[in-house]
Parts: sequence; structure tokens; C-alpha cells
Amino acid sequence: MSFAEDPRVQEAKGMPMSEVVHRLGIGRLVKTGGELVGPCPLCGGKDRFGINLHSNLFQCRKCDIAGGDQIALVMQVQNMGFPDALKWLCGDAPANIDPEEIKRRRARAAAEEARQREDQDRYRRRAIEDAKTIWKRADGTPENLISEYLACRGISADMLPVLPRALRLLKDHPYVKKIGRELETCHRGPCMIAAVQAPSGMLEAVHQTWISADPPHGKATIIYKDTGMPAKLVRGSKKGGAIRLHTPRGADTLIMGEGIETTLTALAADPVPGAAYWVGVDLGNMAGKMQKLPGKRYSGIPDINDDAAFIPPAWVRHLIFIQDGDSETASTRAKLESGLRRAMAHRPGLRAQIVHAGEGVDLNDVLNSKPEEEDHGNPHD
Ligand SMILES: [Zn+2]
Repeated sequence: MSFAEDPRVQEAKGMPMSEVVHRLGIGRLVKTGGELVGPCPLCGGKDRFGINLHSNLFQCRKCDIAGGDQIALVMQVQNMGFPDALKWLCGDAPANIDPEEIKRRRARAAAEEARQREDQDRYRRRAIEDAKTIWKRADGTPENLISEYLACRGISADMLPVLPRALRLLKDHPYVKKIGRELETCHRGPCMIAAVQAPSGMLEAVHQTWISADPPHGKATIIYKDTGMPAKLVRGSKKGGAIRLHTPRGADTLIMGEGIETTLTALAADPVPGAAYWVGVDLGNMAGKMQKLPGKRYSGIPDINDDAAFIPPAWVRHLIFIQDGDSETASTRAKLESGLRRAMAHRPGLRAQIVHAGEGVDLNDVLNSKPEEEDHGNPHD
């Protein structure tokens, strides 16, 4: 039997990476986001080693250790060949194992997978409940501080006479972040709360921007144990959602930026009369998963099976993404294109385009659904 058809390969690749790390005795890795990060098991490089728990890719930024699955990790940490690493992970080749033992192992692996899924679901539901509580608590507070914050960001009260109802204020809101295993309150103060609505319209997340308590009320500086922290945090599930700043009746054009300030600036300029203005919350939500193509880091082609990314509502006939001036151009462009192509695949006939923040909207600069047609213009234009 070749290794390619050895069922132990699938078994090994189905093992939770955290369990393999534990068995290898790699200590002191800390879970942050979807990664385990900490000292490298080979060179000891502090905070140089990381394992992505979704893709299983691992890498040290100091030494050569790098790979993409459980077997590769064992081979490198234990300095073993492939057959020995496989044996270390899964025991003897199947021919030598009692079939009942194989069944028991499969059942254990399935149970572990189900348990992890349940944990994730529970965490997600709790985060959504937190978001709803924060949003309700922010109800009814005077919003002057939001206007002052926005003025600091270049959006004056006369540019935006009416604040969107998707923005609220909490005067004394704790900045809570999971650091290591603990939830820490790193800061308290005034905070702009923005409602992130799921495609269903339900509030499932809040976007929080802490504002300096001192005039002129710019972005708060948050320092926790000598480390600067971002002044913005999302709580809840932003999956496919958006901050709906302005949705006039009868709109068929949706203009979307990554951030609240960029999108409000566009709204104040009002380049397309009657358009709606929504915030995509982050580039990942706007782009969704991309297909991996050989030789390309970012293909710009959406993985259409990703159902967690933003898709515009059916009333949108024209979708415009705003590209921030300060963002890294090639990768940002590819992500925005991926999102627009996904939208076009889901909404036949949709026109889509990218504009740069601060530039006027050129309605002729429309993205085509296939990248190779990009230079030929849009026949329907
Ligand atoms: Zn290393």
C-alpha cells in the first residue's frame, strides 16, 4: 500500500492541530484569533512561531520550520521521516490494527469535531447577545460627541447635518479584549457604537470606536501594559453584514467603504444622487474567500462556496466599492474585485466598480465579471 492510499494520512490530517501540539509537548503557545503563537519548538525564537488553526499552516519567522499539516509538523519537530511521523501520530499501519480500534478512533475524531463546532456556535451566540445588549444600552444618549469625533476626522456638522441612526454613543463603555485566556478591560470611555446588520436585517454585531474624552475628541489612545491597542473593535458576528448608514427609498446604487469615516465622507459628497451608503466593516467581509491560483498571492477570483461574505441585497443594480487611499494597493484591489465578482455572480446584471477614496465616481469605470476582459470595457455600459 502506498502512503497516498494509507487511510492514516486522512486520519492524521483530521486531528485537531491543538491536540498534536499538546502531544508534541510544544508549550506556551497562546491562542490569538485563529492562531496559536509563541516560542518556536526548534529555534526557541520568542513569538516567532505560529500555527493557523483553520488552514493548519505553520511557520517560524526565524528558522526554517514551515509546513501545512499535522504530519509535516511532527516530521520537523521530531526530526522524523514521513513513515515514522505517520506512525507517531496514528500508530501502526491499518493492516496491523484491529478494525474495532479504527472504528473507535473515527468515532473519537468525529466527537471531537462536533464538540469544537458546538463551542464555536456557543461563542458566536454569546457574542451576538453582547452586541444586542451594547446597542440597547447606547439608545437615547445625546450624540454631540459623535459629531465632534467626526469633525476631527474631516466630516463637519454642515457636511452631515443629520447623523445616521446606525450610529449611537455610549459615554462610558469598557474596552474588553481577550488577552491570552482572560478577558481584560484595557480602557473605559466614550464610544461610538455602530449597528452591524446581518443580511436578514437583524442586528448581529456592533462596531465600536472609542473616542478621546478630551477635546477635540479624536480617536482615543488606548495603551495597555505598554502596548498600543486599536481604538476600534467589533463585537458579535459581522458575517455578511454591513453598517447601513443611509438607505433612501427607491435606491438602486449601493456605495460601500471599509470604514465608517470613508463611507460618511462619500455620503457627504453625494456623488450619485439617491444612492445608499453602507459600511462593509472590514475587507475580509467585503472580499470573502478567494480561489487560490498558481503563481498568484491574491487571485481576485471569489470562492463562490463561501457563504459568509457580503452579498448586496436584490434591489442593488449598481455596486460601488471605495478603495481606501492608505491601503496596500495590489492585495486590497484583488480583495475588492473578489467581492464585486461574487456580487455579480449572485446578482445577474449587476454593474460593479471600484473608486478611490477622495476621487470622484467615474461611472464608466465598471468592473467586468472576468479579470481577462478588464481591458475591453463593458458592452452594457
Ligand atoms: Zn524557529
